[in-house]
Amino acid sequence: MLDHSSRKPTTSGLTQKPKTDAVKVCSQSEISRRSALLTLGAAGATLASARPSVAAEPTAAAAKPERDAMVGVQMAPFNLLHEGIEHCLDLLQTNAEVNTLICYTHTYYGGSTDKPTRVLAPDHGVSVDDYFDRKMPDVWVKHRESYFKDSRLKHEPVQPDWKFADRDVFQEVAEPARKRGMKVYARFFDPKASNGKKIKNFHDAVAVDVFGQPGGGPCWNNPHYRQFVRATMQDMFDAYPLDGILWGVELGGPLSELLYWGREPYCFCKYCEEYASSVNLDLKRARQGYAELTKFVRTFKQNAKPPIDGVMTTIFHFLQKYPEILGWNYQFLMSAEHYRREINQAIHGSAPNAHIGRHIDNQITGWDLLQRSAIPYSVMAEADDFLRPSLYSHILGPRVRWFYLERMKHGALQELTIDQSLDLYYAMMGLDASRQPTAEELDHTGMNPEDYVTRETQRCVVGAGDQADVIPAIGFDVPKWGGDTEWAEMSTFRTPPEYVYRAVRAAYEGGADGVMAAREYDEMRLENLKAFGRAVRDSRQ
Ligand SMILES: [Zn+2]
Repeated sequence: MLDHSSRKPTTSGLTQKPKTDAVKVCSQSEISRRSALLTLGAAGATLASARPSVAAEPTAAAAKPERDAMVGVQMAPFNLLHEGIEHCLDLLQTNAEVNTLICYTHTYYGGSTDKPTRVLAPDHGVSVDDYFDRKMPDVWVKHRESYFKDSRLKHEPVQPDWKFADRDVFQEVAEPARKRGMKVYARFFDPKASNGKKIKNFHDAVAVDVFGQPGGGPCWNNPHYRQFVRATMQDMFDAYPLDGILWGVELGGPLSELLYWGREPYCFCKYCEEYASSVNLDLKRARQGYAELTKFVRTFKQNAKPPIDGVMTTIFHFLQKYPEILGWNYQFLMSAEHYRREINQAIHGSAPNAHIGRHIDNQITGWDLLQRSAIPYSVMAEADDFLRPSLYSHILGPRVRWFYLERMKHGALQELTIDQSLDLYYAMMGLDASRQPTAEELDHTGMNPEDYVTRETQRCVVGAGDQADVIPAIGFDVPKWGGDTEWAEMSTFRTPPEYVYRAVRAAYEGGADGVMAAREYDEMRLENLKAFGRAVRDSRQ
């Protein structure tokens, strides 16, 4: 059991991560840079100092990154095995200045093989492999049964005839990476319900939606699920020489699920009832409120006209009649924070010096005000050694158009035109509309990185304070889908090299401690890896 007694109380009331000697949080030069940024942001700080002054322009505060600062790349294990470990590491180090591999240990969710070859980079010097529907493992570490003896959930067994079934990629990459001075981090996502079916007894851990049906992912309050993830982490960090981990989940709170995605809100399982009761929240009444709100959303979507009182007015009616709706959205996300702290503690129990980072998805960094306000960066920083916001500024253009504006047009912002909604969006996000794309331009152009990437990085740095490093993930060549295009019909959305360069520079201007190439290595064209590396080198000069 770790001793928390010597730590300062946190603003969130949640437990704080243990500090270890080997976990670099801030060097002296970074502290002075942060001090300048914190001063910069102090005037406009709200949400537990989560928001810097939006008038802030890049300043001398954005000092040069240290030479050994993290330059990561997100990748799938089968990329290493397909391209060849030596070839792949050389390519990344030579062209992109990469010193840290961030590699999936499990691909139940993420590192997907259901992408068409047309969206994969053709120029890595190795022919593109058609992963589509190929049988490969979803578990890329060799788990030991003894760690799962108390777990109802069990990982999918790897079948001997699957491709790469006999490989142990994290053992194989350890020495080649060490020789090159590169670090190896695990990358882990909580599975969604659709992919989690491969895990034995996963149904016992799936959330319950407002109508009693299975929800979109596991429930954080489910003890079976927590036990399973704890065992997974402990086994991995006991067995492999991992330097750290980047992990997270891409699932919002119940109100986000309903208002942004039109999905049935969750979770209302018996474990959530126990948790809600412990924080004096009446989950039965929350469920009643969510059920009424969900029925209203469904009904007005089917009607051509908004209700006579207006959509937002009616939503406000439900939020006031049932304050438990907002209460449960907040508490459900807080229960995820408790879960996260428990898992981080298990990781540090096995590997006290493991450097733990949080995957912060594009919904949070892009548009979801409910999640941004519930769990600001300052609270995240209490739990993790580094924060990794998804600053996928190029693909964010089409995503804002199709994932946000279009859905809101058929939802809570039905009465606004797309142009009005975009003006509101830019204003609420603290972005400069005069520098950002118009609604028509969004579908084929990215966000202005000097505005979006710099400001979101600054916001994260100010929120993290001296609690955690900030390593933005710069997305490029991320395939496009959304609107009328389904996932399987995704198309390329090639990022110009000059844009990649600007986005990386913009992150450093915002005070980033390092950067990460994202989204997936197998999508990144060589010319963009080179532009990424050039920006890293130029930022150091
Ligand atoms: Zn639950």
